[in-house]
Amino acid sequence: MKNKALLLALALAGSTATHAQAASQPVSARKDSDTTEKTADKASVSEIDKLAIIESLQAIKKDPSQVKFHSAMCYDMAMPPEYTTFSCPTCGTETQYAYQSYQGEVANRVSYLLRSLGQVKARTEVDFSDFCSKCSKDNDDQPELKFTTHCLDCSQTFNWTANTIGEIEQLSLLFVSFPVTEVDQGHLGQQKIEPEKLSEYLSNRLLCPACREKHGLK
Ligand SMILES: [Zn+2]
Ligand SMILES: [Zn+2]
Repeated sequence: MKNKALLLALALAGSTATHAQAASQPVSARKDSDTTEKTADKASVSEIDKLAIIESLQAIKKDPSQVKFHSAMCYDMAMPPEYTTFSCPTCGTETQYAYQSYQGEVANRVSYLLRSLGQVKARTEVDFSDFCSKCSKDNDDQPELKFTTHCLDCSQTFNWTANTIGEIEQLSLLFVSFPVTEVDQGHLGQQKIEPEKLSEYLSNRLLCPACREKHGLK
């Protein structure tokens, strides 16, 4: 754990372009980015994997203390830039946002999210259109980062959103490997999730409401 923290610190120190938030991303997300594209095409996980994931969710629901929650030592950027650019992955249009805003946090994570979603055990797609000045249809509404997930168990699609900076930061929880044994809480002193809420958080994003009910994960 100490080594991991050191690596994160070194990685940050070596890259001025990277916002400090990057430290909350799982290290493996970057290391495995070459293979992510291939696994992203896989329609679903095997039956055995499915069972193992559901059993893990049930186990951590019953006893969250079996999961080790730890924080990485990392540093906030002293002087973040004032603005950041959202490059629309659909049409390429660039839209400027305040760096330290919900929209800015989304803008800074576009490529990370597109790359990492392949690691989510249930096939998941993300819709950035609210953040693009060209693609956005509902200009009056608060922008939302929207996700569509194909239920791990029955493949039915369901939708969910990440509407705050906190929810954006929590997304890296979805990239854990199963069975879940440890969770990176990100910045020291900050908590992405309370241990008692981990099973619910993952269940609500991997399983449709009916399958959550069926497996006692509601
Ligand atoms: Zn666009
Ligand atoms: Zn389902």
